[in-house]
Order: sequence, then structure tokens, then C-alpha cells
Amino acid sequence: MEIENLKGVGPKTLDALHKLEIYNINDLLSYYPFRYQVLKPEVLDNSDNVKTIVGKVESAPRVIFIKRNLNRLAFRFITEGKIINVSIFNRGFLKDKIQIGSDLTLIGKYNSKTNNFAASDIRLFKLEETLIEPKYHLIKEMKSNLFSKLMGQALNSNEPVVDYIPLYLNKTYKFLSKWEALKEIHHPTNLTLLKKAKLKFIYEELFIFMFKINYLKYKKSLEHDFLKRTNKEKEVLDFTKNLPFSLTKDQEKATQDILNDYIAPKRMNRLVLGDVGSGKTIVAFIAIYANYLDNYQSVLMAPTEILAKQHYENIIKIMANYDIKVKLLIGSMKKKEKQQILEEVKEQKIDVLIGTHAVLNENLVFANLGLVITDEQHRFGVNQRSSLQNKGQKVDVIYLSATPIPRTYALTLYGDMDTSLIKSKPKGRRQVITDIKKESELKEVLQAILTQIKLGHQIYVVAPSILDNEDNELENVNSLKEKFNQAFKGLIKIGVLHGKQKPAEKEKIMQDFAENKYNILISTTVIEVGIDVANATMMVVFNAERFGLATLHQLRGRVGRSNLDSYCYLISNYEKERLQVLKESNDGFYISQKDFELRGEGDLFGSKQSGDMSFKIANLQRDYKILLQVKKDSLEYLQELLKGNTHSSYYDQIIKKIDFID
Ligand code: ADP
Ligand code: MG
Repeated sequence: MEIENLKGVGPKTLDALHKLEIYNINDLLSYYPFRYQVLKPEVLDNSDNVKTIVGKVESAPRVIFIKRNLNRLAFRFITEGKIINVSIFNRGFLKDKIQIGSDLTLIGKYNSKTNNFAASDIRLFKLEETLIEPKYHLIKEMKSNLFSKLMGQALNSNEPVVDYIPLYLNKTYKFLSKWEALKEIHHPTNLTLLKKAKLKFIYEELFIFMFKINYLKYKKSLEHDFLKRTNKEKEVLDFTKNLPFSLTKDQEKATQDILNDYIAPKRMNRLVLGDVGSGKTIVAFIAIYANYLDNYQSVLMAPTEILAKQHYENIIKIMANYDIKVKLLIGSMKKKEKQQILEEVKEQKIDVLIGTHAVLNENLVFANLGLVITDEQHRFGVNQRSSLQNKGQKVDVIYLSATPIPRTYALTLYGDMDTSLIKSKPKGRRQVITDIKKESELKEVLQAILTQIKLGHQIYVVAPSILDNEDNELENVNSLKEKFNQAFKGLIKIGVLHGKQKPAEKEKIMQDFAENKYNILISTTVIEVGIDVANATMMVVFNAERFGLATLHQLRGRVGRSNLDSYCYLISNYEKERLQVLKESNDGFYISQKDFELRGEGDLFGSKQSGDMSFKIANLQRDYKILLQVKKDSLEYLQELLKGNTHSSYYDQIIKKIDFID
């Protein structure tokens, strides 16, 4: 059955489904609720608690229009023989559906003095027993009512569904069948069964993920081919001596790991894991230099154009005294320029190519590729991991990551790699002085901004969204610009950067900021990743409660990149306790651990940013024990599959997909 054939699906609804990345019945069925609301009829009492009550409507409802977008529905209601007044905001549209004598269920708070029940939610039926309602992440164009109807049809469709957990494991763990579990997760009958259903899907999701990781690892173990290299320790030592700074201990150690990998009889597959500002880039450059000495080409991939360009400019400076040809390849370049680069790469007229995922282009063929580096690896998924890794068979691979997940988890998720850790920060770095301010204290922050500007320093200001109609509470970049212009009487130059701008426009603004043409850069989190402007000494984040601690730590890492005193203001009226973690610590590993404990990983693997790492239902913090079991189970299963003792078209296909990229 096609999704188009469900009742109630017209072109608009189809569009909305596509927006949710639902293209077929199976996608719909695996669109799991993110939480549940448990409703059970309760007795009305004088306590201050939210209650669920049932009863009948006593008087015809009235709608009072208070202002645009605000109305109140009011009626009398009889529950347990007692008549009370009910009011609920913004349900005016229900007026015609509620008549005298209608059965209703209301959720809200009762005030015995006024005999008023302030309802926050309403159901147009009488709740008889405990009901577990699923809640989905939906969008404006797809209301929960319609979604539930579609889901109901899908659950009755008897569409063939595939259980991705091998049969014997389903037996071992006594999991529900796929259909039972699907019905239970969307229409729970009781909490025990719901838990069982969730467990099955968490296990299934992690199983597929770990299967891929295990297969990547297995493939790695089979490799016999590796590049011919010679020991370059001496040359690298000379190179590092000429750097404008001396390496930190951990940078030295990471460099040594890489040099060892080079000459070991295997292909390098190394994750360099280090906090923001710990100086991973230079380690990458050294690896590139050593690779060049063996006459191989290198490619470095960054997640954004801004970052790629910055790396490009940096490496040119660092390599100025060496005869290394470096070029930049990004999506926004002219076709002709790109074509030229493709040719030069093919003829090895280019030694080092820096770029965005444009470097994954199939037509990009290297004459003699020796090293592939991905920066900010946590932004890419497992599939991209394998596609880069396989760009040349013998190619050495380095991943750089300030991965905002604790190390233990990282080691499982990157189980197919060796790891170097950079914990120490370069000398002379001062802690970024961090403070949490309420919006009412904005004046103080503006004063602090002014002080920095007078010193000739620059400021980043971050706001969570550019939409100004969606949520009144959200400061947005444009209104902030206005606010700042008013506060500083237009004497200050302000640049604005957000995700909806064209790449070239962003590029220009960022470049201008780096050249100190703006005092303040107001932006959404597009600046989160890797930007390096040493003269910027202050980061101000509005609606800080909207961000995970790890993201805030990344943002803060944009300042404090020189020996100047640097500051970070987190502006928020809420969640002071959680934000306090940032005030107290500057250690990314500690902060990510805390973030994990306080929020789960949802934020860390943010929705669409991080490829395969965003799980639908699994939560690495909560489900870590399951993950460890799954790791073992999926490895055993892989071995059986490889021995030919068992067979699965789905997992065979996963293997083919990973192999095909070879
Ligand atoms: P990240 O690990 O976040 O990618 P970068 O590699 O961008 O950090 O380094 C941050 C800044 O620190 C850069 O300006 C870089 O030149 C500088 N840096 C790196 N290593 C050292 C060092 N050992 N001593 C002083 N400064 C360093
Ligand atoms: Mg970096």
C-alpha cells in the first residue's frame, strides 16, 4: 500500500509527510512517539496539582476574544455531582463540538475559592480507564489529530514489515513480534507492554548501527594493502620547530601516533579527539606535511565552506616556506574553476586539497592519494565515514573531532578506529570568564560589550532562530540587530549571519568579521563549527536554555583563542542550574558528560546535522547497557553471516553498500 492511498492524504498532507521524511507506510510506522501522556480519571480536590477529571457539559460554551491569537472558551461542567466553571485558552474552534450534555475529559487545575477549573487540555470523550497517549514531534502542516488517523490506518494495513532483529535474538530476548511492538508503541495498552515494545525498537536501532560499525572494523582487519612510507620523524621535527608556537604534550603525542601509524604495516584509521581550541588542526597539517614528503596527495574535508576556507588560508600560511601546492574546492565555486581543480588533482599538480563534502564528488580522482582527513567528524554519519575511507584502497585516514559526547561512548561509536586524545590546551590560554544573566540584566551585558569594543576587540552574538513569528520568546538575529543599533546609537558596525543566506554572502560576512570590519557579528549557530578569529573576545548567547551544554561549550570555544581576556555571557531566564555547569567548567569532556546526564543525547546528535548518529528512539546515555550487549550480539551475528551459517537480504545489502563504495 502506498502512503498516498491512506484516507485523508491529499497533496498537502503528502507534502507534510515528506517534510517529516515519511515516504511510505513503513516510514510512518517507524515514526515513533517521543513521549507519552498518561491520563486517568481523578477526583477533584483542593490541592494545587494538575488533575484529569471527567463529566458532562452543563451550559453552552461561550468564546471570549481577548486579542488577536488569544481567546478563551468557557462553560459550566458537572463532575461527581458538582458544578464548576471551566475555562480554557485558544480552543474557540471547539465551540460547536461541545454541547450541553457532551461527555468530556479535562486536564487542568481547580481553584475551590473561585470554583474555577483552568483547563490546559481537553478531550472530547469520557475517559473510562487509564489511557496512554502517544506524542509525536510534528509540524504546523501536520496536526496530531490527522497524524493519529493516518497512523491508525497504517497499523491496520497489514503492510509487510521487516523485523531487523535476527530470529534467534528475538527468541533469546523474548521480544514482541514486530507488529505487536508497532501496535504497542503507537497505541499502548499498558505500561509494561509499552516498555517491551520500546526495548525492542531500541535494540533494533542500535543493532543496525553497531552492525555497520562492526563490519567496518572487520573490513579493516582484512586489509593487507598499505602505502609505502618511510620514517619522517626527523623532517617533521624540523617542521614543528619552525612553527610560530611549540606543540603541547598531547599534540606531540597525537603526532607521534600518526607517524607510527604511517610506518606500521597497516592502513591508518585514527580519530583525533580533542576539546575545542585544543589545536587539532596543526596536527592534521603535520600529517599532511609528512604525507607530502612521501609524495602522496592529501585531502581535508570540513563541514562548512567557512571552515574549509579558513583551513585553506591557515595551511597556506603554515606551509609558506615549503613547495606544497594547496587548493580549495567548495560547492559555491564556479564550474570552470572546479573543473580545473579536478584536472590538476588527477595530474598531481595539486598536493593538498581542502574542501567541503564537495571532495566526495565521484569525478574527483586523485593521482596518488595518501591521506584523507575529516574535520569535525561528529557532523558526518557512518555512511560518509565509509565513503571517504574508501576513496582510495590503501589511503590513510584521520578524523578530527571535538565530539560532544563522553569518551566512553565515543569509543564505542567509533569502535572501528584508533584514538588519540588531546586534552591539554595550548599555553597562555585563559579560561573564558563565563556568566549567566537574565534578560532584565541586559544593560550590564551591553556595557561589557561596549568595554570590549573600546579595546578594539570583537564580539559574537548568537540567537537561536531567524524566524520571528514562530515563537515570540525567541530572540532573532534581525530584531537583535535593531536592538543593538538602538542601544549603541548606530555607532557600531554589526554583521548578521544566518543559515538562509547564500554561501557566498555568508563567506563575505565572515571574512569581513575576520578582517575586523564589524565590531559585532550576530548569528545563528552557523558559527558554531570551528571558526577562528583571535581578536574576538566575547560570546553572548541569547535564549541559552535552548541549547545543549555541549553546543554552548562549542560556541564559547569561538573566543579565548589568544592571550586576551575573554568572556561569555549566557542570557536566559530559565535553567540556571544546568547552565551553571558551564560557569564552573571549561573541560569539554566533563561538560559533555554532564549534558548527557542532564538531557540525554538528543541535543548532542541534533536533528539532521549528524547523519547516522541521530537515533530515532535509542538514547545512548539511557541505553548504554543495551548498546554494549548489542555490540556483542551484532558482532556474533556478523560472524555467522560471514561464515555463511545464516543469511539475511537486509544485512547482505548493508554489507554490499559498504563494499560498493570501495
Ligand atoms: P580546534 O582543536 O578547536 O580545531 P584549532 O586547531 O583551530 O583548534 O586551534 C585553535 C587555535 O590555537 C588556533 O589559532 C591555533 O593556531 C592555535 N594553536 C594550536 N596549537 C597551539 C599551540 N601549541 N600553542 C599555541 N597556539 C596553538
Ligand atoms: Mg577545529
